[in-house]
Amino acid sequence: MTDFGFALGTTLPDGRGRTGVIRTPHGEIRTPAFVAVGTKATVKAVLPESVADLGAQAVLANAYHLYLQPGSDIVDAAGGLGAFMNWPGPTFTDSGGFQVMSLGAGFKKVLAMNTVGLADDDVIAEGRTRMAHVDDDGVTFTNHLNGDRLRFTPEVSMRIQHELGADVMFAFDELTTLMNTRGYQEQSVQRTHAWAVRCLAAHAELTRSRSDKPYQALFGVVQGAQYEDLRRRAARDLAGLEVDGRSFDGFGIGGALEKENLGTIVGWVTDELPGDRPRHLLGISEPDDFFAAIAAGADTFDCVMPSRVARNAALYTRNGRFNVNTAAHRRAFEPIENGCDCYTCTHYTRAYLHHLFKAKEMLASTLSTIHNERFTVRLVDDIRASIEAGDFEAFRTEFLGRFYASRR
Ligand SMILES: [Zn+2]
Repeated sequence: MTDFGFALGTTLPDGRGRTGVIRTPHGEIRTPAFVAVGTKATVKAVLPESVADLGAQAVLANAYHLYLQPGSDIVDAAGGLGAFMNWPGPTFTDSGGFQVMSLGAGFKKVLAMNTVGLADDDVIAEGRTRMAHVDDDGVTFTNHLNGDRLRFTPEVSMRIQHELGADVMFAFDELTTLMNTRGYQEQSVQRTHAWAVRCLAAHAELTRSRSDKPYQALFGVVQGAQYEDLRRRAARDLAGLEVDGRSFDGFGIGGALEKENLGTIVGWVTDELPGDRPRHLLGISEPDDFFAAIAAGADTFDCVMPSRVARNAALYTRNGRFNVNTAAHRRAFEPIENGCDCYTCTHYTRAYLHHLFKAKEMLASTLSTIHNERFTVRLVDDIRASIEAGDFEAFRTEFLGRFYASRR
Protein backbone atom coordinates (compact mmCIF):
# COMPACT_ATOMS: atom_id res chain seq x y z
CA MET A 1 0.00 0.00 0.00
CA THR A 2 1.38 3.38 -1.00
CA ASP A 3 0.23 6.83 0.04
CA PHE A 4 0.23 7.91 -3.57
CA GLY A 5 -2.69 7.82 -5.94
CA PHE A 6 -4.64 9.60 -8.66
CA ALA A 7 -8.42 9.91 -8.92
CA LEU A 8 -9.98 11.05 -12.19
CA GLY A 9 -12.58 13.81 -12.08
CA THR A 10 -14.34 15.42 -15.05
CA THR A 11 -13.24 14.62 -18.61
CA LEU A 12 -13.58 16.87 -21.68
CA PRO A 13 -16.06 15.63 -24.32
CA ASP A 14 -13.21 14.46 -26.61
CA GLY A 15 -11.90 12.29 -23.80
CA ARG A 16 -8.41 13.73 -23.34
CA GLY A 17 -8.43 16.78 -21.09
CA ARG A 18 -9.43 15.99 -17.52
CA THR A 19 -9.50 17.07 -13.91
CA GLY A 20 -8.35 14.90 -11.05
CA VAL A 21 -6.76 14.68 -7.63
CA ILE A 22 -3.21 13.47 -6.95
CA ARG A 23 -2.85 12.11 -3.42
CA THR A 24 0.61 12.31 -1.78
CA PRO A 25 1.85 11.72 1.78
CA HIS A 26 2.01 15.52 2.16
CA GLY A 27 -1.44 16.35 0.87
CA GLU A 28 -3.52 16.47 -2.30
CA ILE A 29 -3.06 18.29 -5.58
CA ARG A 30 -6.19 19.15 -7.53
CA THR A 31 -5.37 18.95 -11.23
CA PRO A 32 -4.74 20.50 -13.66
CA ALA A 33 -2.27 22.37 -11.44
CA PHE A 34 0.75 24.61 -11.84
CA VAL A 35 3.64 23.61 -9.55
CA ALA A 36 5.82 26.49 -8.31
CA VAL A 37 9.53 26.06 -9.01
CA GLY A 38 11.90 26.25 -6.06
CA THR A 39 15.08 25.13 -7.82
CA LYS A 40 17.40 25.36 -4.82
CA ALA A 41 14.75 24.61 -2.18
CA THR A 42 13.40 28.15 -2.29
CA VAL A 43 10.93 29.89 -4.57
CA LYS A 44 13.26 32.80 -5.20
CA ALA A 45 12.45 35.95 -3.21
CA VAL A 46 9.22 34.58 -1.69
CA LEU A 47 8.46 33.10 1.75
CA PRO A 48 6.85 29.63 1.72
CA GLU A 49 3.82 31.12 3.50
CA SER A 50 3.36 33.50 0.56
CA VAL A 51 3.73 30.62 -1.90
CA ALA A 52 0.89 28.85 -0.06
CA ASP A 53 -1.19 32.06 0.13
CA LEU A 54 -0.95 32.59 -3.62
CA GLY A 55 -2.52 29.18 -4.10
CA ALA A 56 0.41 26.99 -5.18
CA GLN A 57 -0.38 23.39 -4.23
CA ALA A 58 3.12 21.95 -4.68
CA VAL A 59 6.75 22.99 -5.13
CA LEU A 60 9.36 21.47 -7.47
CA ALA A 61 13.08 21.55 -6.66
CA ASN A 62 16.07 20.42 -8.68
CA ALA A 63 18.14 17.34 -7.86
CA TYR A 64 21.30 18.60 -9.61
CA HIS A 65 21.46 21.89 -7.73
CA LEU A 66 20.65 20.40 -4.33
CA TYR A 67 23.12 17.55 -4.83
CA LEU A 68 25.92 20.06 -5.43
CA GLN A 69 24.73 22.46 -2.74
CA PRO A 70 24.13 21.84 0.14
CA GLY A 71 24.32 18.08 -0.68
CA SER A 72 21.40 15.64 -0.73
CA ASP A 73 22.69 14.04 2.51
CA ILE A 74 22.11 17.37 4.30
CA VAL A 75 18.54 17.60 3.00
CA ASP A 76 17.99 13.98 4.06
CA ALA A 77 19.29 14.70 7.56
CA ALA A 78 16.96 17.71 7.77
CA GLY A 79 13.99 15.41 7.21
CA GLY A 80 13.64 15.85 3.44
CA LEU A 81 13.01 18.75 1.10
CA GLY A 82 9.70 19.90 2.57
CA ALA A 83 10.95 19.95 6.16
CA PHE A 84 14.24 21.60 5.13
CA MET A 85 12.52 24.50 3.30
CA ASN A 86 9.49 24.78 5.59
CA TRP A 87 7.01 23.74 2.88
CA PRO A 88 4.48 21.34 4.44
CA GLY A 89 2.71 20.50 1.17
CA PRO A 90 3.53 18.15 -1.71
CA THR A 91 6.97 18.38 -3.33
CA PHE A 92 8.54 17.28 -6.62
CA THR A 93 12.18 16.92 -7.70
CA ASP A 94 13.32 16.67 -11.29
CA SER A 95 16.02 14.14 -12.06
CA GLY A 96 18.89 16.53 -12.66
CA GLY A 97 19.34 15.25 -16.19
CA PHE A 98 18.44 18.53 -17.85
CA GLN A 99 20.90 20.55 -15.74
CA VAL A 100 23.69 17.98 -15.97
CA MET A 101 23.44 18.06 -19.74
CA SER A 102 22.61 21.71 -20.35
CA LEU A 103 24.52 23.66 -17.68
CA GLY A 104 27.37 21.17 -17.83
CA ALA A 105 27.83 21.54 -21.54
CA GLY A 106 27.73 25.32 -21.63
CA PHE A 107 25.06 25.39 -24.27
CA LYS A 108 24.41 28.50 -26.23
CA LYS A 109 21.85 28.47 -29.01
CA VAL A 110 20.76 24.87 -29.00
CA LEU A 111 20.76 22.01 -26.55
CA ALA A 112 22.17 19.46 -28.96
CA MET A 113 24.03 16.50 -27.53
CA ASN A 114 24.89 15.06 -30.93
CA THR A 115 27.17 17.68 -32.42
CA VAL A 116 27.98 15.97 -35.70
CA GLY A 117 27.26 18.40 -38.51
CA LEU A 118 26.95 21.40 -36.22
CA ALA A 119 29.58 24.08 -35.81
CA ASP A 120 30.97 24.37 -32.29
CA ASP A 121 29.55 27.84 -31.79
CA ASP A 122 26.06 26.49 -32.46
CA VAL A 123 26.39 24.25 -29.47
CA ILE A 124 28.90 25.59 -27.00
CA ALA A 125 28.78 28.97 -25.32
CA GLU A 126 31.71 31.18 -26.17
CA GLY A 127 34.80 30.70 -24.06
CA ARG A 128 33.56 27.44 -22.57
CA THR A 129 34.68 23.94 -23.32
CA ARG A 130 32.31 21.06 -23.65
CA MET A 131 31.69 19.82 -20.13
CA ALA A 132 29.16 16.97 -20.39
CA HIS A 133 29.57 13.61 -22.09
CA VAL A 134 26.75 11.08 -22.41
CA ASP A 135 27.40 7.34 -22.71
CA ASP A 136 25.11 4.34 -22.32
CA ASP A 137 25.81 4.10 -18.59
CA GLY A 138 25.33 7.75 -17.64
CA VAL A 139 26.69 11.29 -17.96
CA THR A 140 30.07 12.69 -16.95
CA PHE A 141 30.00 16.42 -16.36
CA THR A 142 31.75 19.31 -14.69
CA ASN A 143 30.40 20.84 -11.50
CA HIS A 144 29.60 24.41 -12.57
CA LEU A 145 30.40 25.68 -9.05
CA ASN A 146 33.97 24.40 -8.65
CA GLY A 147 35.06 22.58 -11.82
CA ASP A 148 35.10 19.05 -10.28
CA ARG A 149 34.39 16.15 -12.64
CA LEU A 150 31.27 14.26 -11.53
CA ARG A 151 29.13 11.45 -12.84
CA PHE A 152 25.34 10.97 -12.87
CA THR A 153 23.79 7.59 -13.63
CA PRO A 154 20.18 6.45 -13.19
CA GLU A 155 21.21 4.88 -9.86
CA VAL A 156 22.91 8.08 -8.66
CA SER A 157 19.88 10.20 -9.60
CA MET A 158 17.56 7.81 -7.73
CA ARG A 159 19.73 7.83 -4.62
CA ILE A 160 19.89 11.64 -4.64
CA GLN A 161 16.14 11.98 -5.16
CA HIS A 162 15.40 9.50 -2.36
CA GLU A 163 17.64 11.52 -0.05
CA LEU A 164 15.86 14.73 -1.10
CA GLY A 165 12.63 12.98 -0.16
CA ALA A 166 10.14 14.67 -2.51
CA ASP A 167 6.69 13.09 -2.98
CA VAL A 168 7.17 12.90 -6.75
CA MET A 169 10.47 12.10 -8.47
CA PHE A 170 11.39 11.73 -12.13
CA ALA A 171 13.39 9.01 -13.84
CA PHE A 172 16.79 10.04 -15.19
CA ASP A 173 16.50 10.63 -18.93
CA GLU A 174 18.62 11.94 -21.75
CA LEU A 175 17.99 15.44 -22.97
CA THR A 176 17.83 15.87 -26.73
CA THR A 177 16.73 18.79 -28.89
CA LEU A 178 15.01 19.42 -32.19
CA MET A 179 18.52 19.86 -33.65
CA ASN A 180 19.39 16.20 -33.13
CA THR A 181 19.16 13.85 -36.08
CA ARG A 182 16.34 11.29 -36.32
CA GLY A 183 18.95 8.54 -35.86
CA TYR A 184 20.21 10.10 -32.67
CA GLN A 185 16.65 10.53 -31.33
CA GLU A 186 15.99 6.81 -31.87
CA GLN A 187 19.16 5.89 -30.03
CA SER A 188 18.33 8.34 -27.26
CA VAL A 189 14.80 6.99 -26.74
CA GLN A 190 16.30 3.50 -26.35
CA ARG A 191 18.88 4.81 -23.90
CA THR A 192 16.21 6.66 -21.89
CA HIS A 193 14.17 3.43 -21.77
CA ALA A 194 17.16 1.42 -20.54
CA TRP A 195 17.75 4.10 -17.90
CA ALA A 196 14.05 3.93 -16.91
CA VAL A 197 14.43 0.19 -16.23
CA ARG A 198 17.46 0.92 -14.02
CA CYS A 199 15.62 3.77 -12.25
CA LEU A 200 12.70 1.48 -11.37
CA ALA A 201 15.08 -1.19 -10.04
CA ALA A 202 17.03 1.33 -7.93
CA HIS A 203 13.74 2.89 -6.77
CA ALA A 204 12.41 -0.51 -5.64
CA GLU A 205 15.59 -1.18 -3.67
CA LEU A 206 15.68 2.30 -2.09
CA THR A 207 11.98 2.13 -1.19
CA ARG A 208 12.65 -1.15 0.65
CA SER A 209 15.80 0.05 2.42
CA ARG A 210 14.17 3.34 3.46
CA SER A 211 10.80 1.89 4.46
CA ASP A 212 10.60 4.21 7.48
CA LYS A 213 10.22 7.20 5.10
CA PRO A 214 6.99 8.38 3.41
CA TYR A 215 6.39 6.73 0.01
CA GLN A 216 7.95 8.58 -2.92
CA ALA A 217 6.30 8.22 -6.33
CA LEU A 218 8.41 7.80 -9.46
CA PHE A 219 7.37 9.19 -12.87
CA GLY A 220 8.88 7.83 -16.09
CA VAL A 221 9.82 10.47 -18.66
CA VAL A 222 8.58 10.18 -22.25
CA GLN A 223 11.02 11.51 -24.85
CA GLY A 224 10.99 11.23 -28.65
CA ALA A 225 11.10 14.87 -29.75
CA GLN A 226 8.83 15.72 -32.71
CA TYR A 227 8.46 12.15 -34.05
CA GLU A 228 5.05 10.56 -33.60
CA ASP A 229 6.25 6.95 -33.80
CA LEU A 230 9.05 7.57 -31.28
CA ARG A 231 6.80 9.42 -28.83
CA ARG A 232 4.07 6.77 -29.02
CA ARG A 233 6.48 3.87 -28.66
CA ALA A 234 8.34 5.54 -25.78
CA ALA A 235 5.03 6.16 -23.96
CA ARG A 236 3.76 2.61 -24.55
CA ASP A 237 7.02 1.01 -23.44
CA LEU A 238 7.21 3.07 -20.25
CA ALA A 239 3.53 2.47 -19.46
CA GLY A 240 3.97 -1.29 -19.72
CA LEU A 241 7.22 -1.42 -17.80
CA GLU A 242 7.39 -3.40 -14.56
CA VAL A 243 10.63 -4.05 -12.69
CA ASP A 244 10.90 -5.84 -9.37
CA GLY A 245 7.12 -5.57 -8.93
CA ARG A 246 7.10 -1.81 -9.56
CA SER A 247 5.74 0.28 -12.41
CA PHE A 248 5.76 4.05 -12.82
CA ASP A 249 3.29 5.97 -10.64
CA GLY A 250 2.92 8.64 -13.31
CA PHE A 251 4.69 10.09 -16.30
CA GLY A 252 6.65 13.16 -17.32
CA ILE A 253 6.55 14.48 -20.86
CA GLY A 254 9.96 15.90 -21.59
CA GLY A 255 12.35 17.12 -24.17
CA ALA A 256 12.10 19.07 -27.34
CA LEU A 257 8.59 20.28 -28.08
CA GLU A 258 7.74 22.56 -30.98
CA LYS A 259 5.36 25.17 -29.63
CA GLU A 260 3.05 25.03 -32.65
CA ASN A 261 2.70 21.24 -32.26
CA LEU A 262 2.59 21.10 -28.46
CA GLY A 263 -1.00 19.86 -28.20
CA THR A 264 -0.50 17.31 -30.99
CA ILE A 265 2.65 15.87 -29.41
CA VAL A 266 1.16 15.73 -25.90
CA GLY A 267 -1.91 14.05 -27.43
CA TRP A 268 0.20 11.27 -29.03
CA VAL A 269 1.75 10.56 -25.66
CA THR A 270 -1.42 10.66 -23.55
CA ASP A 271 -3.17 8.38 -26.09
CA GLU A 272 -0.66 5.69 -25.16
CA LEU A 273 -0.54 6.28 -21.40
CA PRO A 274 -2.94 4.68 -18.91
CA GLY A 275 -5.73 7.11 -17.97
CA ASP A 276 -5.48 6.39 -14.27
CA ARG A 277 -1.98 7.80 -13.75
CA PRO A 278 -1.01 11.51 -13.74
CA ARG A 279 1.06 13.21 -16.45
CA HIS A 280 3.43 16.10 -15.82
CA LEU A 281 4.56 18.40 -18.62
CA LEU A 282 7.97 19.84 -17.87
CA GLY A 283 8.74 23.49 -18.47
CA ILE A 284 5.74 25.38 -19.90
CA SER A 285 3.94 28.48 -18.58
CA GLU A 286 2.57 30.48 -21.53
CA PRO A 287 -1.26 30.73 -21.44
CA ASP A 288 -1.80 29.25 -24.93
CA ASP A 289 0.51 26.34 -24.04
CA PHE A 290 -1.52 25.55 -20.89
CA PHE A 291 -4.77 25.38 -22.84
CA ALA A 292 -3.24 23.21 -25.57
CA ALA A 293 -1.50 20.83 -23.15
CA ILE A 294 -4.49 20.50 -20.81
CA ALA A 295 -6.85 19.82 -23.74
CA ALA A 296 -4.40 17.08 -24.76
CA GLY A 297 -4.50 15.44 -21.33
CA ALA A 298 -1.59 16.86 -19.28
CA ASP A 299 -2.30 17.27 -15.54
CA THR A 300 0.55 19.17 -13.89
CA PHE A 301 3.12 21.73 -15.03
CA ASP A 302 6.18 23.54 -13.77
CA CYS A 303 8.22 26.39 -15.20
CA VAL A 304 10.77 28.93 -13.99
CA MET A 305 9.49 31.62 -16.35
CA PRO A 306 6.81 33.36 -14.23
CA SER A 307 9.29 34.06 -11.42
CA ARG A 308 12.32 34.62 -13.67
CA VAL A 309 10.63 37.28 -15.79
CA ALA A 310 9.09 38.84 -12.65
CA ARG A 311 12.59 39.57 -11.35
CA ASN A 312 13.14 41.45 -14.62
CA ALA A 313 9.99 43.57 -14.17
CA ALA A 314 7.88 41.67 -16.72
CA LEU A 315 4.38 41.14 -15.34
CA TYR A 316 1.44 39.09 -16.60
CA THR A 317 -2.12 40.37 -16.77
CA ARG A 318 -5.28 39.11 -18.48
CA ASN A 319 -4.53 41.71 -21.17
CA GLY A 320 -1.01 40.43 -21.86
CA ARG A 321 2.46 40.99 -20.47
CA PHE A 322 4.05 44.38 -19.78
CA ASN A 323 7.21 45.83 -18.24
CA VAL A 324 6.55 47.86 -15.11
CA ASN A 325 9.94 49.55 -15.25
CA THR A 326 9.04 51.65 -18.31
CA ALA A 327 8.31 55.36 -17.87
CA ALA A 328 4.59 54.90 -18.51
CA HIS A 329 4.20 53.40 -15.02
CA ARG A 330 5.98 56.10 -13.02
CA ARG A 331 2.71 57.66 -11.94
CA ALA A 332 0.43 54.64 -12.39
CA PHE A 333 -1.27 54.54 -8.98
CA GLU A 334 -3.21 51.41 -9.77
CA PRO A 335 -2.52 47.72 -9.15
CA ILE A 336 -0.62 45.55 -11.63
CA GLU A 337 -3.98 44.11 -12.58
CA ASN A 338 -7.39 45.41 -11.53
CA GLY A 339 -9.32 42.68 -9.77
CA CYS A 340 -6.27 40.49 -9.06
CA ASP A 341 -6.61 38.97 -5.59
CA CYS A 342 -2.85 38.59 -4.95
CA TYR A 343 -1.09 40.21 -2.00
CA THR A 344 0.81 42.57 -4.30
CA CYS A 345 -2.22 43.86 -6.20
CA THR A 346 -4.30 44.30 -3.05
CA HIS A 347 -1.59 46.42 -1.33
CA TYR A 348 0.67 48.10 -3.91
CA THR A 349 0.62 50.14 -7.11
CA ARG A 350 2.47 49.91 -10.40
CA ALA A 351 4.14 53.21 -9.51
CA TYR A 352 5.56 51.71 -6.32
CA LEU A 353 6.84 48.64 -8.17
CA HIS A 354 8.32 50.93 -10.84
CA HIS A 355 10.14 52.81 -8.08
CA LEU A 356 11.42 49.57 -6.44
CA PHE A 357 12.84 48.31 -9.74
CA LYS A 358 14.48 51.65 -10.52
CA ALA A 359 15.97 51.78 -7.01
CA LYS A 360 17.05 48.14 -7.31
CA GLU A 361 15.27 47.24 -4.08
CA MET A 362 14.93 43.53 -3.21
CA LEU A 363 11.21 43.93 -2.51
CA ALA A 364 10.70 44.47 -6.25
CA SER A 365 11.46 40.78 -6.88
CA THR A 366 9.29 39.60 -4.00
CA LEU A 367 6.18 41.57 -4.98
CA SER A 368 6.53 40.86 -8.71
CA THR A 369 7.05 37.15 -8.16
CA ILE A 370 3.98 36.89 -5.93
CA HIS A 371 1.84 38.44 -8.67
CA ASN A 372 3.20 36.37 -11.58
CA GLU A 373 3.01 33.11 -9.64
CA ARG A 374 -0.55 33.93 -8.56
CA PHE A 375 -1.47 34.77 -12.15
CA THR A 376 -0.11 31.44 -13.40
CA VAL A 377 -1.54 29.29 -10.61
CA ARG A 378 -4.94 30.98 -10.95
CA LEU A 379 -5.02 30.56 -14.74
CA VAL A 380 -4.55 26.79 -14.41
CA ASP A 381 -7.08 26.71 -11.54
CA ASP A 382 -9.57 28.58 -13.76
CA ILE A 383 -8.98 26.10 -16.58
CA ARG A 384 -9.72 23.29 -14.12
CA ALA A 385 -12.94 25.03 -13.08
CA SER A 386 -13.92 25.52 -16.73
CA ILE A 387 -13.55 21.78 -17.40
CA GLU A 388 -15.71 21.02 -14.37
CA ALA A 389 -18.29 23.58 -15.51
CA GLY A 390 -18.32 22.27 -19.08
CA ASP A 391 -17.21 25.55 -20.69
CA PHE A 392 -13.53 24.90 -21.38
CA GLU A 393 -13.64 25.95 -25.06
CA ALA A 394 -15.53 29.17 -24.32
CA PHE A 395 -13.05 30.08 -21.59
CA ARG A 396 -10.12 29.27 -23.87
CA THR A 397 -11.43 31.52 -26.66
CA GLU A 398 -12.23 34.36 -24.29
CA PHE A 399 -8.96 34.22 -22.32
CA LEU A 400 -6.58 33.82 -25.25
CA GLY A 401 -8.44 36.42 -27.31
CA ARG A 402 -7.89 38.96 -24.59
CA PHE A 403 -4.36 37.93 -23.57
CA TYR A 404 -2.95 37.98 -27.10
CA ALA A 405 -5.13 40.86 -28.44
CA SER A 406 -2.20 43.28 -28.49
CA ARG A 407 -0.18 40.95 -30.76
CA ARG A 408 -2.72 41.08 -33.57
ZN1 LIG B 1 -1.71 40.47 -8.57
